[in-house]
Formats: sequence, C-alpha cells, structure tokens
Amino acid sequence: MKKRKRIYLDYAAATPVSKEALEAMRPYFSDKFYNPSAGYLSSRQARIELAELRSDIASILGARPAEIIFTSGATEANNLAVVGVLNEFPEANILISSIEHESVLSPAQTVHSKEIPVDNNGIVDLDKLENLIDEHTVLISVGFINNEIGSIQPVKDISKIVQSKRQKRIRDNNNRPLYLHTDAAQATNYLDLHINRLGVDLATISSGKIYGPKGVGCLYVKAGTKIGPIVRGGGQEFGIRSGTENLAAISGFTAALKIAQSSHAKESVKVLNIRNYFETRIVEILPKAVINGGKKRAPHIISITIPGSDNELLMMKLDERGVECATGSACMASSDEPSKTLTSIGLSHQDARSTLRFSLGKDSSMKDIIKTLAILKAAVEDS
Ligand code: PMP
Repeated sequence: MKKRKRIYLDYAAATPVSKEALEAMRPYFSDKFYNPSAGYLSSRQARIELAELRSDIASILGARPAEIIFTSGATEANNLAVVGVLNEFPEANILISSIEHESVLSPAQTVHSKEIPVDNNGIVDLDKLENLIDEHTVLISVGFINNEIGSIQPVKDISKIVQSKRQKRIRDNNNRPLYLHTDAAQATNYLDLHINRLGVDLATISSGKIYGPKGVGCLYVKAGTKIGPIVRGGGQEFGIRSGTENLAAISGFTAALKIAQSSHAKESVKVLNIRNYFETRIVEILPKAVINGGKKRAPHIISITIPGSDNELLMMKLDERGVECATGSACMASSDEPSKTLTSIGLSHQDARSTLRFSLGKDSSMKDIIKTLAILKAAVEDS
C-alpha cells in the first residue's frame, strides 16, 4: 500500500535542506575535509574557501567579511549578542521585547535586563521603548519576526530612536555605546536583511530555517561593536567564537542564504496567498477561531486560538490524521507554562493553551491547506 503523504506545516521549526545547499556541502565531507587553521597547502586552501564563503555572506547582507561570526545557529548567536556585549559592560543593562525567543530571553535573565511591552498585535510600543532606555542601556534586542505569532517589528523605527539617543549621549558626555540587535531567524526567507537599510548593529541568522543545514548560522557584528567571546579556545572567528569551523555547514548555509535573500519577495507573495486563504476559510469553518497578531505579520506564520480546545490534544489528533503543526514554538514544547508570547499579547492562560501554530514553506500547497482545514474541523468537532 502506498504510504499517504503527510502534510508538514511546521516550517518555522525546520526546513528541508535544498538541493543547492546539499551540493554545496558535499565536497567538504570528503575531498575538502581539512581544518582551515592548519599550516599546509590543503588547509590553506580550506582557509581561502572559508574566507570566500564569509565574504559571500557579507555581500548578501551588505556587510564586511570581518563582521560575520559563524556560530552553531541562532541560539548561540543570540546568546553571543546578549552575553558577549553585556560582559564587556558589566554595569550596563539590556532591553528586550517581552516576546523574544527563549535564546534571547534566557541569557538576558542572567544580566541586568528590562522588558519592552508589546501591544495586542505583538508589536513593541515605541514610546515605552524610548522611555525605558536609560543612561546605562547598552543593548536593545528586538526580534524581527516573532516565531509564534509572526508579528514584524518596526526595526527601522527602533533604529531611528537608537540613533537619536546616541546623539543625546554625545551631548551629555555619556560615552556608553547603545547597540541594536535583531534576531532575524524567522525573517531571512521573507524580508530584506540588508544591514544598512535595517540599521542594526547585530543580527542573528539561522541556516536551519532557510533550507540550509541545521546547527549553523551567524551573528552579524558591526565593526567597532564591543563584544567578547562566550566560547573560548583556539581563537577562531576573530577570537569571538572558538572551535574548528564547520566548512561543510557554512558552505550549505551560504548557498541557502543566497537563495533566501534573492527570492524573499517572490516567496512572500506565494506563501501569503496560501496564508490568506487558510485564514479566510478557518474563520468560516470555525467561527469562534481567532487569528493572532495584527496586519504587520510574516507571510508564513498562522497562529490560531480555538477557544475551549486543548492545543496539545488537537495537535495530536491532527498528527494522527497526518497533519504536522505546533503548539507555540517547538523550543518550548517540553514546558508546561503557557506561551509567554501569547500571554504578552493579552491571551488568557486558557486561550494560550487553545492556540495552534501552522507555518508554511516552499512545498506548502493550496491542496494541502484545503485538506488541513477539513481535518482540523473534524478534529475540533471530535474533541
Ligand atoms: N530565534 C528564533 C526567532 C527562532 O525561531 C529559533 C528557532 N525556533 C531560534 C532563534 C533558534 O534557532 P536555532 O535552532 O538555529 O538555534
């Protein structure tokens, strides 16, 4: 019997590796396995190729090669941004939005930190953000696209606030820098990440969300930003992140980033079309369902509260019927606490526990969504 194809709707958690990324990785597992830091010819060649890949990533982002620090993914890049900067300024504080990913939230809890509230659509309140910046604030970290509800933050507007605060510090003779970091892990497939246009000092990118291999990513660190290592050792990555560089993964990541950033506009339109259909139909089929997040939302994330339902149970029922989706983010799947993102946008604990996340990607089709809607309706009626 032919196995029925499952419907995968969790692209915000993981994407399959594209054939381009896979091909770009292949030689580095065998012919080109060398350690880029050794002294002989083959290693020197590996070093040259690492430099080329770094320079490719930099040019895609409009950055300089020395501003790209390869990491093991977005979690490490976020930890590096928060702890790496705050270690340099032990008396300083960091502002983060109340809906940051755990990999920002958790390291921020180890230093002096304050939370910027968000509105019911999951957008940071710019006035409150401005008022929270005090003379000791050294870093502001606001994720570009929230991974649970898809809200898109006004990073450029935040950058303008940061610039005017910097001017004020010059006038006040306060020489503490003020940096802006954004976790762009969910944004890379759909938004322009050109650094100058964004106006950030640090940015996190994850390969595993953009059809590249998992376990690799980078932190963009603007030249002149004071940041120290959190992983120490052989001094690779300009002394900021030690460990033998994973050239295979970096090569796959570079290939994936090229595609992601050159096709983000086209991909957005395609995915948005499917999302719009899904959201229009879902409220017709389940009139009590509420779509979370406002108008400024990522095209690939659909967060739905179905009042009275139990999201764990619903997810399992969908799984049994071949549909793969999430309750909140996969990273918090082991926790019993209701999602902090959902409660921060005003959902009750009960409603947060009645919320499912569907996330779309390259292989999502209208046909799959039509099937999913029917399966979801049956699963809700059945529970
Ligand atoms: N930040 C965001 C916004 C994410 O969605 C994720 C993945 N869920 C991460 C960080 C962590 O990424 P990685 O798995 O590459 O460490």
